[in-house]
Amino acid sequence: MKYQELHIQTQREFPNNARTQGFGWLVRAGYVTRENEILPLGGQMISRLQNLSTDSSFFSHLPLPIIYNEHENFFALSAGSTEITHCEFCKYTARLELSQIKKSVFVQEEPQQIEKVLTPECHTIEALASFLNIPKEKTAKALMYTRTADNQFVFVVVRGDMTLSEAKLKDKVGEVRLATAEEITKAGAAAGYASPVGLNAKDALIVVDDLVAQSPNLAAGANETGYHLLNTNCGRDYSPEIVADFIQAKAGDVCINCGQPLSVINSISLATRQELNFENILLALAETHHDDKGLTFPKSAAPFDVYLMHIAGKELDTRVKAEEIYNELTSAGFTVLFDDRDERAGVKFNDADLIGCPVRITVGEKNLKNGMVELKPRKADQNMLIPQADIIANLREIR
Ligand SMILES: [Zn+2]
Repeated sequence: MKYQELHIQTQREFPNNARTQGFGWLVRAGYVTRENEILPLGGQMISRLQNLSTDSSFFSHLPLPIIYNEHENFFALSAGSTEITHCEFCKYTARLELSQIKKSVFVQEEPQQIEKVLTPECHTIEALASFLNIPKEKTAKALMYTRTADNQFVFVVVRGDMTLSEAKLKDKVGEVRLATAEEITKAGAAAGYASPVGLNAKDALIVVDDLVAQSPNLAAGANETGYHLLNTNCGRDYSPEIVADFIQAKAGDVCINCGQPLSVINSISLATRQELNFENILLALAETHHDDKGLTFPKSAAPFDVYLMHIAGKELDTRVKAEEIYNELTSAGFTVLFDDRDERAGVKFNDADLIGCPVRITVGEKNLKNGMVELKPRKADQNMLIPQADIIANLREIR
């Protein structure tokens, strides 16, 4: 393709909104706008990636560090909005909100008798644990929702030190929203002092995290303002409808597979089983393939194999010669970006470096007189002079 057909506009300055180096270079090289809209050059890159992706081993050929599980491929990026848990040891990987963790019962003991105690101003787990002088692990936390489909009141219990994953809840019961004060009162619960004990199964769908079901003697609300119950036991004092995993993982939680600590990593999603996110793949490639002059795309994932340019001559028409080479290379199956502008050599060299095709070929008068062209792999420091007849053989050798 011709440079001018693609309407490439490179930028001198890094966009001030660039959250990452890779994005900054994509904007400067004219792949995307500052608003992250794909420009024709970006479209060309993406259509090449799409062609490559028909190969089932696409990701194994892409030079990218990928974190993956059986459902999804991720690329770690601090500015990425998809949080995942990852185990360095066994490579367990999951979206944070769906990640499983290994849970353990805080203390295994015989169920004790339930006891109602006065707990003034204990609206939160922190206040309750501090007032009762017990660890948060010995408390049960209540969260109340209403299912949007049928207005069913949903009462959720997780251990006091843990956080509910709403994604897991929705997965089990359907779409929900937070319950209103009226709905809480109507179900017989008391905000800040709520527990499933004493609730009517008709009024509340009781949903319990599996760790709560195994944990004896948790302090929970008494459904009466100012009071809590000591030693509540799931199964004895209330009967949940659903017992499952409802916990949101956090950094340092224990890997479900191998018991090592999990890290939480920001990432972007590159592919699910159903579809590939080519814009994110382009960004990931830019993050991993650039230097201080621009992008350095590898041969296996570049918008074009070759950046071809001519330098205007005094005696020879270098443009016509470059056009000949362009036709020769495209006939041989190479994709070529022909910089057909009448710009100064320096401008073209800079743009070639910015755009980052694996090889630049320069057609200049002096070399041409000797039947030579200049060939420079993007990542090499030196260029080489090669006979025009050997261009294709040389290109095939460059990785
Ligand atoms: Zn692990």
